[in-house]
Amino acid sequence: MNSNSQKILHVGEPNLPDFDDFCDRLRTIWIAKRLTNDGPMVRELETRIAQMLDVKNCVCVANGTLGLEIVVRALGLVGEVIVPSWTFPATAHAIELAGLTPVFADVKGHHLDPESVETVIHDKTCAIMHVHTWGQAGAIDRLRELARRNRLALICDAAHAFLCTHNENLIGPLGNAEVFSFHATKFFSTVEGGAITTNDDALAEMCRMMRNFGFAGYDSVRCVGTNAKMSEVHAAFGLTMLDCINDVRERNFGTYHTYLEFLGDAMVRYDPVEQSNFQYVVVEMNNRDAVLGTLWNMGVRARKYFFPGVHRMFPYSIKMVDLPVTDELARRTLCLPTGQSVTKDDVAKICHVIKEVSCQ
Ligand SMILES: *Cc1c(COP(=O)(O)O)cnc(C)c1O
Repeated sequence: MNSNSQKILHVGEPNLPDFDDFCDRLRTIWIAKRLTNDGPMVRELETRIAQMLDVKNCVCVANGTLGLEIVVRALGLVGEVIVPSWTFPATAHAIELAGLTPVFADVKGHHLDPESVETVIHDKTCAIMHVHTWGQAGAIDRLRELARRNRLALICDAAHAFLCTHNENLIGPLGNAEVFSFHATKFFSTVEGGAITTNDDALAEMCRMMRNFGFAGYDSVRCVGTNAKMSEVHAAFGLTMLDCINDVRERNFGTYHTYLEFLGDAMVRYDPVEQSNFQYVVVEMNNRDAVLGTLWNMGVRARKYFFPGVHRMFPYSIKMVDLPVTDELARRTLCLPTGQSVTKDDVAKICHVIKEVSCQ
């Protein structure tokens, strides 16, 4: 990786399906002239995902952020929603966009800490929005218990968690609803897209209406819906991607284990009991910023996650909540490149630099 022929490596390089298979599906769309509005490709994708994840309903949407917003609104929530700050801003934005107030709780490990959640529950609290960070469900069992005891809704931001398990069951049916992101940088992608999964039929029906302007039939509008429909072209990409998703996981698994060989204890490890998509290679280190600078100089676009923490971003930062564990993680955490372009040699070079800078 010298400077004149520098190979650039990214976090979340898109995983692509077979081009010819995708074209076959595009031809089907061309012939049917059906481009969007709950078409056959979207329906097939929803059916396949619901079956795979063993959940009664799957409602595909235009992206994960709209999916989260729709769930909050479809549940008829008002007031405050407890959410980690240790997440992508969309988690909090979805709550804010739905007209509710996100209230940040701290994390333990990389997941919402039930003890911190308990300290911010009061009479205005209506829900907990949990994030399956890096595809792992954290303390979801205790949060479910906490939600039940306090009569709160429980929504899961499952953006990272497609084909990951909790208690050895695939993530999808947890809480009132789970919301996946199928953005291009995620493990499973429809370019842009997402899905709401739930065992609550009435909630699923409401989400279907809300993603399509609130239409309940040709001339009947029953709620203030938005436009969050997934197009047939996006669904076709997703269906083709599903056909090769096990290959993607195999490759991720290989990359993760190569990193693990070199970095060992510095890495955030996936629970060996659970199934994972191995999409994220995450390290924690004291001299994170020095390592990051050196890596960028050699074309390795490692990324700070989730820096500086959503509670330190607009508009949430004006409240100045104290989240010491989140702040510490934001200071120490780095995501390393994955995807098809990353070879064993690349991993060796990256890890060599990390070790060298760490020893200085
Ligand atoms: C990617 C992501 C989202 C947003 O999903 P989009 O499909 O890009 O809207 C939300 N939450 C988390 C944790 C994410 O990583």
